Amino acid sequence: MADQTTDQALTRINRDLQERATQQRAKDLNLPYVDVAGFPINPDILHILPEEAAKHALLMPFFKSGKKLRIAVVDPDKTETKETIKELEGRGFTLEVYIASEAAFYEALKLYASDQFKLKVETKNVVAEEEIHYEKELENLAKLKDTIATLPAEEALNTLHVSAIKAGASDIHYQPEESECTIRFRIDGVLHEAFSVGKEVYHHLAGQLKYKAKMKLNVTTVPQDGRFRFIVNERKIDVRVSSLPTEYGEAFVCRILDSGKHFASFAELGFSGKSLEILKNAEQLAQGMVLVTGPTSSGKTTTLYVLLTQFNKPEAKIITLEDPIEYHLKGITQSQVEEKQGYNFANGLRSILRQDPDIVMIGEVRDLETAEVAAQAALTGHVVLSTLHTNSAVETIPRLTTIGVPAFMIAPALSVVVAQRLVRRLCSACSTERAVTSEEKTFIEKTLDGIKSVDAACTVQLPQKLRQVKGCDACNFTGFRGQMVISEVLLVDDEIEDAILKNKSAPEIFALARKKGMLTMAEDGLLKVIAGETTMEEVHRVTNA
Ligand SMILES: [Zn+2]
Repeated sequence: MADQTTDQALTRINRDLQERATQQRAKDLNLPYVDVAGFPINPDILHILPEEAAKHALLMPFFKSGKKLRIAVVDPDKTETKETIKELEGRGFTLEVYIASEAAFYEALKLYASDQFKLKVETKNVVAEEEIHYEKELENLAKLKDTIATLPAEEALNTLHVSAIKAGASDIHYQPEESECTIRFRIDGVLHEAFSVGKEVYHHLAGQLKYKAKMKLNVTTVPQDGRFRFIVNERKIDVRVSSLPTEYGEAFVCRILDSGKHFASFAELGFSGKSLEILKNAEQLAQGMVLVTGPTSSGKTTTLYVLLTQFNKPEAKIITLEDPIEYHLKGITQSQVEEKQGYNFANGLRSILRQDPDIVMIGEVRDLETAEVAAQAALTGHVVLSTLHTNSAVETIPRLTTIGVPAFMIAPALSVVVAQRLVRRLCSACSTERAVTSEEKTFIEKTLDGIKSVDAACTVQLPQKLRQVKGCDACNFTGFRGQMVISEVLLVDDEIEDAILKNKSAPEIFALARKKGMLTMAEDGLLKVIAGETTMEEVHRVTNA
């Protein structure tokens, strides 16, 4: 007992001596001193620097006010300390450096292990859930421009991200130019400028963005990928960040992956008529392949996710292999390919099949190996969902043969092929009517005749008027709000299966599918133009007609 008291007393004396020596050292260095072990540190501040980095640099943040950050360092001349100081300055902090003793530093470092620190999750953002019009949000952002310059980079970024969510943006683009950096939001597939920031603010935002996404801060000359998560209204939102070195600095694109996103039904996506019927019936499939085709940004992933949700029942085991995982779905095992580690679609799919799934989704069929394993799985009691790059539904068949899959495998494996594009939806608040031109009349009549020749039940008449874009507050004067799918859906029934087996040409198979009522994307689009949902120009734009 006596020994213990003596030990404690000795420790205290040693500490006092060390603190006094440190005070003297601080005076010599002309820097302020802090007893960082005795300082009431708010654990939130520790999130500025991970424990490993703090230990490595013998540096600890201990007080923050706006952009001002006080840090305690043991040795300001230590290389790692200098590097970390530079990094923090790069993230936009104005630093005040204090000298602390080594003993006090390690004592304070214990705070990283505290419950208070661990309990702190990401900043919780609460956003009113009433409908928020993005043009108002962009207006607010433009006003925020000046505020953002005064905020610490972390808060500035957070403000930007919350605004992007409110505006319904899918991506945030940072484009550095000679004297400033332009920040743009992609909304409904179209980029809108939010505002520009000066070079200095941009550098701080970029530093903070790279730090959050766990990218290498000192690397600026090669592209990097990273990811981070933040929370809005209890919803976890993943942000995928990619950087690209450009003439005026690194450009960034942040893809917002909202895991709480509600996946609309096929009808809400824009599927209608026979296409909708086939997709709704797809959930009855016991085995077979459902392929969704189209170019990049044609909404393929969303259609696949809606299919997945349709299959998602307690008795079904669903496994996905994605690149990357865009949305997290409850009740579904999702995995991500890691090409660098040799985990690709083909061998990943083989491993997945050993897990005895009922339904498998593979991000994309790119090569023979993947196509073969996928077809085999579809023939042996699994439903396989995937995407492919082709221009039309029927083209999928020659594409698979070109890859090297034999017709005798394609024919029985393939069940449904969806080809799709996205068109912008006319803003219902402002679109106006106009007369149909005589040129359009001829075109519409011809197309309607084509539609009626495959679908006898179609009663759509040549319209006298069509709707056109105008532009209002609600649509940011673009005339459009939201997007919708135009599609053609091929159901592979016995007759089509037989045609594939007999190596019939794509036009022959197309003619056969027409007999069974398959409309083309352009025809589906025209019906939506007549219904006043989109414009002729939109349909032509995406179908290259
Ligand atoms: Zn409008």
